[in-house]
Amino acid sequence: MQLRDGKVAVFGAGGFIGGHLVKYLRDKGVDVIRAVDIKPFRDWYQKSEGVENLLLDLQTKEACRRAVQGADFVFNLAADMGGMGFIENNKALCMLSVLINTHLLIASKEAGIKRFFFSSSACVYNADKQKDAAVTPLREEDAYPALPEDGYGWEKLFSERMCRHFEEDFGLETRIARYHNVYGPLGTYTGGREKAPAAICRKVIEAKRSGIHEIEIWGDGKQTRSFTYIDDCLKGTEMIIESDIHEPINLGSSELVTINGLVDIVEEIAGLKLRRKYKLDAPRGVNGRNSDNTNIREYLSWEPSIRLRDGMEKTYRWIEKQ
Ligand code: NAD
Repeated sequence: MQLRDGKVAVFGAGGFIGGHLVKYLRDKGVDVIRAVDIKPFRDWYQKSEGVENLLLDLQTKEACRRAVQGADFVFNLAADMGGMGFIENNKALCMLSVLINTHLLIASKEAGIKRFFFSSSACVYNADKQKDAAVTPLREEDAYPALPEDGYGWEKLFSERMCRHFEEDFGLETRIARYHNVYGPLGTYTGGREKAPAAICRKVIEAKRSGIHEIEIWGDGKQTRSFTYIDDCLKGTEMIIESDIHEPINLGSSELVTINGLVDIVEEIAGLKLRRKYKLDAPRGVNGRNSDNTNIREYLSWEPSIRLRDGMEKTYRWIEKQ
């Protein structure tokens, strides 16, 4: 089933990935009829003309009914979320996003939506499998037995299952991607919800401007992660909603890096070296996390491939301009 054959609605469209997705699909000639977010328009990262842009609180069922009207494909990217600093300190707020996905599923079932996309997260994976920085990449089955990130990860895992059961019991076709740390321009880089790539770019830029050549790193910097550039995320999202993949699937880069390694990259882009101060009691998440891409390669003959160095250069240059 092709997106071009129907009308699309994107939720969380004032946010980082949602804003990019609206633009990406429209540039490809897809008929995006509606973009929805709870934030005032002035706070949207991107806003496309020729689309019905709506401010709605999608935690309510009435808003969800309004939001899906006339659409064939629905992308649910709306969630109350942020980097480790936010999700470790706002577990109840993160879990309340369950209302968004639940009401959107009900409204989509009632409206006869053809396909429903849910943006899940690598935070659903069992914490016991992420204790070692030299992590074995996470396969989709590693989400069970369930021991996800408290709050945010539990909401994502529950909502994944809700999608699965709406498909099994009510015939609503659902597709689920587990995003792994998506980064790029036109996203959050300050204010407490930013994630490591944007936060590190901002700190390096601040150090360069102030002349105080020091950087604070959360944890010991030895924790490992993989980071997915936005363009790979958009392409993968499009391929997954059009595919016949009925199970949650990893959408993430498998290029593993330590946080110290990420700082090295940004220092090299900025052309300076900083003294590193490690804040050991700061939120730092699991010790190691990487994406096993066996399934996505098999199903789609594709996987994210944009090099971290290249994506970080673009992200750094954008934040520098802000
Ligand atoms: P984001 O915070 O930039 O965008 C989410 C948007 O949802 C925000 O603009 C927010 O205002 C909106 N929203 C929140 N509550 C709402 C409500 N009640 N009604 C309407 N809109 C509401 O985040 P993002 O990075 O663009 O992430 C998009 C999706 O992908 C989220 O579901 C997130 O959990 C998931 N995800 C993102 C990453 C990542 O690294 N960025 C990783 C894993 C999963």
